[in-house]
Amino acid sequence: MTVAFVLDRAAAVLTLAGPHRPRAGKAMGDLCILEDASVAVSDDGRIAWVGSAHNLDVPGDPPRIDCRGKTILPAFADAHTHLVYAGARKDELEMRLAGADYEAILAAGGGILHTVEATRAAGEDALVAATLARIDRMRRAGTTTFEIKSGYGLDLATELRQLRAARRLSDEHGVRVRTTCLAAHAFPEDVRAGRRSRDAFVDEVCDTILPAVARENLADYADVFCDRGAFSVEEARRVLERARGLGLELRVHANELGPTGGAALAAELGAVTADHLLFVDDDDRTRLRAAKVTAVLLPGTSLVLGKPFADGRAFVEAGVPVAVATDSNPGSCAIESLALVLALACYGNRLSPAEAIVATTHNAACTLGLAHEVGRIEPTMAADLVVLATDDYRDLVYHAGSPLIEAVYSRGRRVDRPADETASP
Ligand SMILES: [Zn+2]
Repeated sequence: MTVAFVLDRAAAVLTLAGPHRPRAGKAMGDLCILEDASVAVSDDGRIAWVGSAHNLDVPGDPPRIDCRGKTILPAFADAHTHLVYAGARKDELEMRLAGADYEAILAAGGGILHTVEATRAAGEDALVAATLARIDRMRRAGTTTFEIKSGYGLDLATELRQLRAARRLSDEHGVRVRTTCLAAHAFPEDVRAGRRSRDAFVDEVCDTILPAVARENLADYADVFCDRGAFSVEEARRVLERARGLGLELRVHANELGPTGGAALAAELGAVTADHLLFVDDDDRTRLRAAKVTAVLLPGTSLVLGKPFADGRAFVEAGVPVAVATDSNPGSCAIESLALVLALACYGNRLSPAEAIVATTHNAACTLGLAHEVGRIEPTMAADLVVLATDDYRDLVYHAGSPLIEAVYSRGRRVDRPADETASP
């Protein structure tokens, strides 16, 4: 092992050192901070060493990057996105700002079905290129790990194309991506128009789309939008049980629009995550905790849609592990910066800044099966790091939106600059 470079003498290194499991309760705020500390990165893109600067012990004389006055933390992991899509919905944004409601737009045949139409018409290369542009911006904002869902095809060919595009981001472009089949995102146009039954579409998802996805190993997870105006608990159960039978782990869009039973279903089926969770009660929280389901909160969507924020404090106090993600998608929230959403998780979901950092790094990585790889700063883990131009991580919340992120590394390589500048640390 050769040390490629050292991030030297940072005012603070947020190591988050600790076990691989998701943090809950009081442990949600454990950042394990080292002061006047250094991080050595090996030439294979891993953390070689971390500790007090005056104890630095690495072979050779690697370049040292002066990090005095700065903070180093694990790069962010975005555990809930819909990044592979074509087309934008900025006109719809203006309609909503003028007073139209998301569900009303959907009921009128707008919303997600516009994205479905555009995505069905887009080729795989175009989807890859459009998504890479989004990922480039997100990396500059500190995110190096991405969960990406399908769900803008609602038919076999397009769902497969979206997932293949997401896999190519990883295989051809080195982006760390975990994929989720969300074929049960909405009912397609022919079901809405009454030309096909709801059951027939659920059959297509269960009998055709999910088996094809599993055969090509295109998804790590399956997800269902189980909510008012979308899939019922019984429809969602069919899809999720079928997915689990095919070897996929489960995530569930639950209780965003009403207390519709999605959270209880996620607990009953032992899903990895239940996401959104605006309308939950003590009983739901008890079930989620008992089933070790992580609550994924998406405060950007609440902000953009003008909805209430999920009660993050209540989840922490109930001992449910919490992750926070962008939900980045063309309709309900196209915000890409998880650094900004981290601040919203404090102002909206009432997490502490420390809890919000755990929720966007280690806990998010746990939900993606990557706790051994990213989310903490420990030897042998990937050198996915953010350097902040401040000695106090709370500035991410205090000065939310300010350009505090000075450098972003993924596997030891700078990813926050144009390609021709990435050769040096
Ligand atoms: Zn979503």
